[in-house]
Order: sequence, then structure tokens, then C-alpha cells
Amino acid sequence: MTIADNVAVVRERMSEAAERANRPVDSITLVAVSKRKSVGAIMEAYAAGVRHFGENRAYELQDKAAETDLSDLNWHFIGHLQTRQSAPVAQYATVFHAVDRPKIARCLSLQLLEANRHLELFIEVNISGEETKSGFECAKWETDGGQRETLAAAVEEIAQLPNVSLCGLMTIAPWGARESIIRSVFMRTRRLAAWVCESTSVNWSTGCPLLSIGMTDDYEIGIEEGATHVRVGRAIFGERQ
Ligand SMILES: *Cc1c(COP(=O)(O)O)cnc(C)c1O
Repeated sequence: MTIADNVAVVRERMSEAAERANRPVDSITLVAVSKRKSVGAIMEAYAAGVRHFGENRAYELQDKAAETDLSDLNWHFIGHLQTRQSAPVAQYATVFHAVDRPKIARCLSLQLLEANRHLELFIEVNISGEETKSGFECAKWETDGGQRETLAAAVEEIAQLPNVSLCGLMTIAPWGARESIIRSVFMRTRRLAAWVCESTSVNWSTGCPLLSIGMTDDYEIGIEEGATHVRVGRAIFGERQ
């Protein structure tokens, strides 16, 4: 199987999942997660029509963006980001999926203002409650008013920053969990997005919050539960070293 074959399989499965959910498949962006993969592999996916690529290390993004230099290729930064490594993200990314504290959004906003660039932001929420995960603590959001308030305050603050637009929520399902657990994590993320939409004064750039949910093992479940962005690595590029 070539990378082009893999892209075709993923697109077909995305279509089938969208059909099951009664959703147009063109409402879902495939982000091909190219971390640890070569520029050659990225160019193979690009030739197969992929225009969105995901990276999770700032300097790897910088090297690959400088090397590819294609105006219609969009870089998504999907990992935890430290403020001292934020410059490549401000310079090259079009979407950042993992805002886990207001400080990183403020820092990016300043750099974007200076560079006269714009960045779309997803706020990462930790719905499964695993301690190793980053993101706003939202494992008990339905019953814990404190978790809801912390998130809502961050949303209000970030939405007012210049040169960024808040577009939705991102989460990562627990690794290796069974389908019902994964589905419930995604469903609870969708409900949280709806709560945030109702409870804050934010003008979402898209009307209502988008959802970045689903990876190689669970992107079809993500689509059935409302994903607008799926972040798929291994199913396209193969296992990572
Ligand atoms: C690596 C990674 C992915 C892609 O994972 P696969 O299992 O290879 O599809 C998606 N999202 C995030 C945040 C990642 O770090």
C-alpha cells in the first residue's frame, strides 16, 4: 500500500462514516499527521490531494514548512506548545489544536500581531481525566461548576485576543479504550462545545464551535459524533519509529 492508497482508504472510510451520520463529508477536514515522517512522505500525500498536515514539535514544523514552501499547504500544530518554542507556530501554522492555557494563546497573539498573520485556535479539553493528558480539566464538567467556569473564562479571554480566532474544542480519546468509552468521550466533548457556545458571548468564527476529534484508531467514531477535523497519522503514513 502506497501513501496515496492509504489516503484513498481513509477518505472512503470518512465518506462512509459521514453518510452514517447524515453529514456532508466535505464538512470534515482531514489533517494528515506527518510527525516523524519525511518531507518525501508529505509530498506523496500532497500529490494525492492532501492539503492539511499536522505536526507536534515546533522545530520539526519549522524545518518542514521551510522545505516544502507551498502556498496551499496548511500546517496544523497539534501538540503541547511551550511559550519559548512558539515562534515557528506563529510563523507557519494556520491552525493550532492544543491551546491548554490562556498564556500560550496570549503569547501567540503577540507574535502574530507583529508578523501580521492570523491563526485559528482549538482549545484542548481533557474529558477522559487521564493524568498524562494536557488540556483544560473537563472530566467532570457536567457536575463540576468550577471546571466549567475555568473553561468559560479562558474562552472569553482568548476570543478577545487579536490575530487569532477561536474555532472549537479538541480532545484525545483514551488510548486503546473500547468503542463505547471513546464514543462517550467524543459525545461529551460535543455537548461541552454546545454548552460553551450557549454560555459565553463569543462569536465563533464558524457560527458554532468546531470539533477536532478522532485519530487513526477512532476517526470514524469521531465523525459519527460530529468531528469537523480528524487528525490521522499512522493510517496514512504507517507506523512511526
Ligand atoms: C500523533 C497524534 C495524532 C495522530 O495519531 P495516529 O494514531 O497516528 O493517527 C493525532 N493527534 C495528536 C494530538 C497526536 O499527537
